[in-house]
Amino acid sequence: MKQKQRSSLRPVFVDSVPDTKLMDADALYVSMTYATAIHMCACGCGNETVTPLAPDEWRLIYDGETISLAPSIGNQRLECGSHYWIRRNRIVWVPDEKRRWIASLKQAMRKAIRRLLRSRTPPLYRADRDGRVRLRRGLGI
Ligand SMILES: [Zn+2]
Repeated sequence: MKQKQRSSLRPVFVDSVPDTKLMDADALYVSMTYATAIHMCACGCGNETVTPLAPDEWRLIYDGETISLAPSIGNQRLECGSHYWIRRNRIVWVPDEKRRWIASLKQAMRKAIRRLLRSRTPPLYRADRDGRVRLRRGLGI
């Protein structure tokens, strides 16, 4: 079910995370019991976005009125590819330019890794018959 893109979310503190079918698309559910926040993707694609709260996952800031989550929410695994921050209840979209830059960076890294895996560069050193290790000749260095 396609819904409209959100510009803000309303924090709702719950004991346990509600069933997807019962989730309000405008709500950011926070369960301290399960150290988890969950909301429907802000693009309106209808996918739920689970953000576990942990030192190496997401951090939640509640100022008594609004909620911020860090780092950004990246739904790159979903088809929609949404990427945004939640700051003081507001959805702040990562600019397209930045998304393109990140995408091109990832592509360049994949290319470099493939090239590295394909390369048949001989080892720089070889062991002599007497067991001494020498720099291989013909490397131009
Ligand atoms: Zn989405």
